[in-house]
Amino acid sequence: MALFSHRRLMIWAPLVLAAALIGVSCGDDGPPHASESKDSAHWSYEGAEGPAAWGELAAEYATCSTGSAQSPIDLGVAEITVLPDLLINYRSGEVSVTDNGHTVQATAASSSADSSSISLDGTEFTLLQMHFHAPSEHTINGVFAPAEVHFVHRSETGELAVIGVMLTEGTTDHAAWSAYTETLSVGEEQTITTTLEWPAMLPGDALTIRYAGSLTTPPCTEGVRWLVMDTPVEVSAAQLAAFVEAHEGNHRPVQELNDREVLADTSRG
Ligand SMILES: [Zn+2]
Repeated sequence: MALFSHRRLMIWAPLVLAAALIGVSCGDDGPPHASESKDSAHWSYEGAEGPAAWGELAAEYATCSTGSAQSPIDLGVAEITVLPDLLINYRSGEVSVTDNGHTVQATAASSSADSSSISLDGTEFTLLQMHFHAPSEHTINGVFAPAEVHFVHRSETGELAVIGVMLTEGTTDHAAWSAYTETLSVGEEQTITTTLEWPAMLPGDALTIRYAGSLTTPPCTEGVRWLVMDTPVEVSAAQLAAFVEAHEGNHRPVQELNDREVLADTSRG
């Protein structure tokens, strides 16, 4: 446990200042949320429709306040253990990028020819979409990363598995991330089609911290398998600025752990 905590602190400690700077709350997110269906209630990251109120905004959002296995959480409590390998079968593929008023989402084309997937505990999950939060949603001992990206996957039976990757500031542009960061100014009601090199967007080391949680946006549905990568990906300051410029403060606060297990992988897949 001590080794675990120390290792995390080594990685995360330099992020405190950046998080403090980026974490300052911003004004309203901008225009109305074009992509929400007429039936879903409007929600936001601050004010009267902010995270503390999500559960009361609509009956279908009740889990946001009544749930007992909500995300994100602080991952500092993780226990090191040996976990089954996470197999990542990503390949470059076409995406449609849109700004839904809460984040900028890259949705994978449904063509099976270039579909990416992961395999976890014998179940295959297909990559559906990727989006970001700035600053991060998950924390380690209270420390935020400047941004966190979520790769959302679904199994044939509808179960969701999300891979979280922290983005931190390095010295140069990350080439594979440029294809996405260049679309972040897409604006609402616009769509940009591009190709993402999914494999190159992940850290080289596939160690993960795993727990059972939920969607971090309304309706906060539970039963989501979370895998947060242990190693961050470094992007440039300019790339991080593009995230913040698109949506700043679009993160849900950490939720109660309750009686959940949080496990950190020691094996190298
Ligand atoms: Zn997310």
